[in-house]
Amino acid sequence: MPTREDVMHLRSVVRFASMTSTGDCAELASVPENAAIWPLETSTRDNCLGAECPRFAECFVYKARREAQAADIVVVNHHLFMADLAFRDDAIRDFLPTVDTVILDEAHQLPSVAADFFGTSLSLAQLLEAGRDARALGLARAPDGSSWITLTSQFERAVRDLRLALGAVGLIAGSRTSLDRIERRSDLRPAFDAIDEASAELARALEINRGRDAELDLLIGRVAELRRNLAEWTGAVALNRDEDSDAAADESFEGDAPSVRWISLSTYGAQFNQTPLASGQALARAREAQPQSWILTSATLTAAGRFDHYLAEVGLDNATTARWDSPFDFPRQALLYLPQSLPSPYDANFAHSVAEVAWPLIRANGGRAFVLCTTLRAVEKVAARLRQLMAQDDEQLPLLVQGASTRRALIDAFRSAGNAVLIGSISFWEGIDIRGDALSLVVIDKLPFAPPDDPVVEAKIRYLRKIGRNPFNEYQLPEAIMLMKQGAGRLIRDETDRGVLMILDERVLSKPYGKAVLSSLPPFARTRNEGDAIEFLTRRGAR
Ligand code: SF4
Repeated sequence: MPTREDVMHLRSVVRFASMTSTGDCAELASVPENAAIWPLETSTRDNCLGAECPRFAECFVYKARREAQAADIVVVNHHLFMADLAFRDDAIRDFLPTVDTVILDEAHQLPSVAADFFGTSLSLAQLLEAGRDARALGLARAPDGSSWITLTSQFERAVRDLRLALGAVGLIAGSRTSLDRIERRSDLRPAFDAIDEASAELARALEINRGRDAELDLLIGRVAELRRNLAEWTGAVALNRDEDSDAAADESFEGDAPSVRWISLSTYGAQFNQTPLASGQALARAREAQPQSWILTSATLTAAGRFDHYLAEVGLDNATTARWDSPFDFPRQALLYLPQSLPSPYDANFAHSVAEVAWPLIRANGGRAFVLCTTLRAVEKVAARLRQLMAQDDEQLPLLVQGASTRRALIDAFRSAGNAVLIGSISFWEGIDIRGDALSLVVIDKLPFAPPDDPVVEAKIRYLRKIGRNPFNEYQLPEAIMLMKQGAGRLIRDETDRGVLMILDERVLSKPYGKAVLSSLPPFARTRNEGDAIEFLTRRGAR
């Protein structure tokens, strides 16, 4: 049921729609990004009527597309570009104009965006939404066409039962689990079968009413696609892990589209994903289908000075590559501080040590620091310990902690405070540009290796091993190095910036691969002495 807030938001949207010239919902600040009203009034590939829509002529989306078609240069984000590339063969053609040249900035993000678009996903929310739409449209446009309430209620009940079944096989809210790691996965089969049965009834009712209403007709294809996706998952859950050998579990690594099936669970929802393990191959195929040049740029496409890892990830084996030195005077502008003694990053109290070792520098610097952690748990622990240290030393600096507000609000607050300490995990390691005095200390807790128990990471490691490659050297380490460079890159943003980068993971010195990590970072001056680092920060002109 809609809340009073939803109604207020809806009124704001209606008012905004009558005044805006672009229809860009980012301009409507009074309705938050996560407002419940957005999904209910958003047109998607599933429900857009296209030229048959009565509001087609005034539609903001199509107006923007027409303008893009007529333009010489179009600027879009990676997701829109990838959607256009991945769905070229789909009904949505001419999403963007055909172009000769594509310039992709921040191209280090391309492999992960490609993995999203060349994979498939099916969520319980999508299924429930299809059921809701079928009920609303059926009752409004073909009330005598079927028992819409009974049909959709059965369907929705079956979908909710699948969520319960996922809990019963041991999955917990917040988890991401590879399908072949679920011991009793065949216990999910009856729940999938029940959805199949209920959705078949719904599909029949829609088919019987075909031709009565354009929007109702659109649901025929949508339900059919959901059923196809469901059928694949029904087949995939058919075998229990113990009936299955590891070799059979690795079957999805065969062929030219190796992938992993995995499930993410939230409190009330679930998403079923199939992620390609070599998205570069799919990307290369899509790119080859279009005669155009790609120019990929980023400060972090190399690991240890080589492009190999990146080129393999994006499926480019004969690209021309080049590197240009930064215009910044790194040895003069920045100091890399590697503290003398630190506990192992595996130590249970490591996060506390991070706060304790970083605090003297944060204090001497009057805040103006980013503390970049590799996990959300570390963010909380470091923040808690820093709060204690501030209270102990009677030094109150604004402490901005990931999760307390949106990413954008935290960054804005950091900029305007001028003496804040921001503590964040991976989403804060890149894409933030804070120049000048507000940021002159970046603390990195650990080397950002992707968690090896993540279903996609784990599958990729197994896949690389299976094809005879070295997953650590060819995947985990280069990925960590590229992310490390992004994190370090928050510090010096222009020719006048100065600051200290502090890395608290002793593995950069104790492990053989540490050399590759350090040599990939900008050539900052180095010290292992806390006094030097504090002196650098407080020296005249540093602030
Ligand atoms: S064409 Fe109609 S349904 Fe599609 S986005 Fe525009 S207004 Fe929405």
